[in-house]
Amino acid sequence: MKKKILVTGGAGFLGSHLCERLLNEDNEVICLDNYFTGQKENVVHLLDNPYFELVRHDITMPFLIEVDEIYNLACPASPIHYQYNPIKTVKTSVMGAVNMLGLAKRIKARILQASTSEVYGDPEIHPQTEDYWGHVNPIGERACYDEGKRCAETLFVNYHKQNNVKIKIVRIFNTYGPRMHPNDGRVVSNFIVQALRDQDITVYGDGKQTRSFQYVDDLIEGMIRMMASPLEFTGPVNIGNPGEFTILELAEKVIHMTGSKSKVIFKSLPSDDPMQRQPNISLAREKLEWEPHIPLEKGLEKTIEYFKTII
Ligand code: NAD
Ligand code: UDP
Repeated sequence: MKKKILVTGGAGFLGSHLCERLLNEDNEVICLDNYFTGQKENVVHLLDNPYFELVRHDITMPFLIEVDEIYNLACPASPIHYQYNPIKTVKTSVMGAVNMLGLAKRIKARILQASTSEVYGDPEIHPQTEDYWGHVNPIGERACYDEGKRCAETLFVNYHKQNNVKIKIVRIFNTYGPRMHPNDGRVVSNFIVQALRDQDITVYGDGKQTRSFQYVDDLIEGMIRMMASPLEFTGPVNIGNPGEFTILELAEKVIHMTGSKSKVIFKSLPSDDPMQRQPNISLAREKLEWEPHIPLEKGLEKTIEYFKTII
């Protein structure tokens, strides 16, 4: 029998890939989104499938439905978007989690939370393991996102302990790929769009800060494996690509791969911007037999091809 699966934030970058993969695996998918940062274009190719439903809804309000599984992705993920209305970002993470966990409790569904490497803040240990508690400024520019996601993890863990809700938490590290919004401000999309337009490449700070970039298909595989894993494994589990690059290295790679005439320019570093980030994925390897397979160059090639078609 087909499984019924709810994907909140399903019209966003990651959500649209997840909906597509779940439909390909013969499930019935209900995609819920308020279209704040997502768009119908991301899922329009799925609308002909009779087992796909698109619902406009804001998860800060309760939502009732009967499903077997819930993937909770609804939340703006790019700093410019989550800082646009910080109170709403907190509400989406926290009230959204309460609403979705309440639903999961009532209908006895499995529920997976799309958490983030941002729960580690500007980390003092490197690479980051799941037992690290993090280094987050609770009143800084990023707090609405970081603390919202941390509180959501707290809610997940306590709904599990108090109410036996079947929870799964994945901590997602920087993920890129087709369907990132060209104006969403994240580094991979910014650099590719700038390079394809021969505009200046905007490196914030001195570009020595690092990130570890994961291609979207690897992440989706990790999320699906996590949802299917034995119930006693609740996570949190890091899902990311341990390949670590400086932002300047990324800029140079993108210029080279696009054959662009763009020059690198330096702009001020946003406050609380983490200096380094790299996942330790031993737990995912052990519990999910998962590891990423798509190296940065290969993933960038696919992403550059995508952006060429839309700009
Ligand atoms: P995205 O902005 O493309 O997608 C988020 C989606 O959630 C959008 O479609 C948006 O319209 C929707 N949304 C926002 N607030 C909502 C609300 N109140 N009600 C209903 N829908 C709402 O971002 P993404 O990169 O696809 O991220 C998806 C999830 O993964 C987010 O929870 C994010 O925190 C998490 N994550 C992403 C990354 C990454 O690198 N992409 C890293 C860590 C965590
Ligand atoms: N960044 C940059 N230029 C840009 C966009 C981002 O140098 O045009 C930097 C940003 O300061 C950060 C890194 O790239 O150090 C990753 O930024 P992003 O917003 O993609 O993700 P996050 O900071 O949330 O990991």
